Amino acid sequence: MHAVGIVAAAGSGLRLGADQPKALVPLAGRPLVCWAVDALRAGGATDVIVAVPAAERAAFAAVLPADVVLVDGGASRTASVRAALAAVAATADAVLVHDAARPLTPPAVVARVLAALAAGARAVVPVLPVVDTTVAVDDDGIVTGALPREPLRRVQTPQGFDRATLVDAYGRLPDGAELTDDAAVVHTIGVQVATVAGDERAAKVTVAHDLALAELQVAQ
Ligand code: C5P
Repeated sequence: MHAVGIVAAAGSGLRLGADQPKALVPLAGRPLVCWAVDALRAGGATDVIVAVPAAERAAFAAVLPADVVLVDGGASRTASVRAALAAVAATADAVLVHDAARPLTPPAVVARVLAALAAGARAVVPVLPVVDTTVAVDDDGIVTGALPREPLRRVQTPQGFDRATLVDAYGRLPDGAELTDDAAVVHTIGVQVATVAGDERAAKVTVAHDLALAELQVAQ
């Protein structure tokens, strides 16, 4: 299977408190985006396309391998993935969309997603169970009710797709639409999304505490 990896790396990193794009923040001395690219390749992606902040293209080119294709990202994650998807070769069978902010994703997670695609799924996401009690609140922060925890899952990346299906779904998505992941994009055209086991090590680095945990993980 010819699988192309897309890394969404055009975010700002504001919540991390960094003075540079989050994807360039170092983990054990290497930018997060480099870890994410390595994980995709180790798990089976052949080519990798990275969506970067337009103004930072040179900084990304300086740290990534020369055979990684860079495209200018957009104002939202959805816009960034849309831009990268336009650069995916029509000969690819599958597309894996990954967050640069998930540097320590084990290659086995990538391989599980690819295996599910090879077995016929058109869309696959790695998931983990919800371990906390989960509630809904109103505008004042008052709990309005508990959600049944058993059927809920936390969704990670990389998310895998049959290429033509993902291109079709993005093609029908209105300009300016902002969804938090790509499974939500294919869901809008009624495609069934399968799940495989995720991994706590694929956690997203969002705030400084997450980066500290990732440093500990690398040091183990
Ligand atoms: O902000 P958040 O952590 O949810 O972003 C998830 C991923 O999407 C990050 O890897 C970030 O770099 C990427 N992103 C992007 N383009 C944007 C915003 C976020 O590629 N405009």
